[in-house]
Amino acid sequence: MLKRFPPKYAFPDDLQSLQLKGLQWTVSHAYANSPFYRKRLAEAGSMPGDLRTLADLSRLPFTTAEDLRDNYPLPLLSVESKEIVRIHSSSGTTGKRKILCYTHKDIDDWLYMFARCYELAGLSREDRVQICVGYGLWTAGAGFQLGAERFGAMTIPAGPGNLDLQCTFLQDLQTTVLCCTASMGLLMAEEVHARGIRDRIKLRKVILGAERTSDAMIATIKELLGVEEVYDIPGLTELYGPGTGLSCRHEAGIHYWADFYILEILDPETLAPVAPGEIGEMVYTTLGKEAAPLIRYRSRDLTRLVEGDCVCGCILPRHDRILGRSDDMVVFRGVNIYPGQADEVLSKVDGTGSEYQILLEHKGDGKDYMTVKVERANQLDEGYDATLARAIAGAMKRNLMVSCAVEIVPYGTLPRSERKTRRLFDNRRY
Ligand code: ZN
Repeated sequence: MLKRFPPKYAFPDDLQSLQLKGLQWTVSHAYANSPFYRKRLAEAGSMPGDLRTLADLSRLPFTTAEDLRDNYPLPLLSVESKEIVRIHSSSGTTGKRKILCYTHKDIDDWLYMFARCYELAGLSREDRVQICVGYGLWTAGAGFQLGAERFGAMTIPAGPGNLDLQCTFLQDLQTTVLCCTASMGLLMAEEVHARGIRDRIKLRKVILGAERTSDAMIATIKELLGVEEVYDIPGLTELYGPGTGLSCRHEAGIHYWADFYILEILDPETLAPVAPGEIGEMVYTTLGKEAAPLIRYRSRDLTRLVEGDCVCGCILPRHDRILGRSDDMVVFRGVNIYPGQADEVLSKVDGTGSEYQILLEHKGDGKDYMTVKVERANQLDEGYDATLARAIAGAMKRNLMVSCAVEIVPYGTLPRSERKTRRLFDNRRY
């Protein structure tokens, strides 16, 4: 299935030796060329020659977003500055931006990975790809654009916004693939619907990047644009940018490019590996990144690995979609709880609306209590509340191993905001 941009290995054992080689190269390279890494590795007592198996990865020190900020403007720099051909930068919410630099080989590897995304999504060189993400310092524009050129499809660098122009191109150029953020995808879907031009466009696929997606968003985009396939591309500026994996067409998780980086899933509290299939923090180690290699970089993003072979036949391993941030984790009665998990559980219970709140309290008896407030679905009868509450409590118990009280409230009564709505309220006082 991946003929032009195939995995760099054929069997699982080959992947391990490829990863070990890449890991050894990365640590030697970082140690030899980056004062930051040399100091960090020396402090941890990890010499490059000590790495004999992949298990030795667990003895290497972590790198964090704070390290990147502390070493502004060119953190993790491991090459001479004349080797750098590009920088990208993420819009930091606090303090200084994170700036990451790339050598020619880094860009080349990134575009190979991105072209692989387009190939796995089933594009051909006949496709016309309209890219409506931001260009410039952000990685999205360059990644989607140059990846599509490397793949060999016709690219339309439309940029974000400007719905009028987008709709004109969809009709006049007969675009077949739309690349955008999930919120832009929703806007476009609603615009195409409102203008009644669905029959005049030829869109077949939508590739979403740079934002968390939900099943509801994807369903709306599919319906209003009349497309068969919607893909999700994860992306992290520190790890090249978007294009380092792609959701499976069978909705069986996200295939990730394990021949370019190692993904560890660790408990954010203990930093030990979680059990197979459990949720943990995504920690990245690159295998051939020159300018700013990553050694155990803590992304704070949460997901879990998806075990076993994929029905689609792709041998690249899988993780689940991003389920939240480890900063949002709370420990309740000895269990790690992430808001994204509750989201997932509630979305599978029939009769629940889209909004909910979780309240944690510490009561006089010395115990912690959880109350889940959930909106009933629009137009659902109140008489169904008791049954719905029981179903929710049961689902929470089965999936999160916690007991909770459930309160059903009318549709539309919980607060909503365009950006991040706060859903977890930890009112415990000790
Ligand atoms: Zn698959």
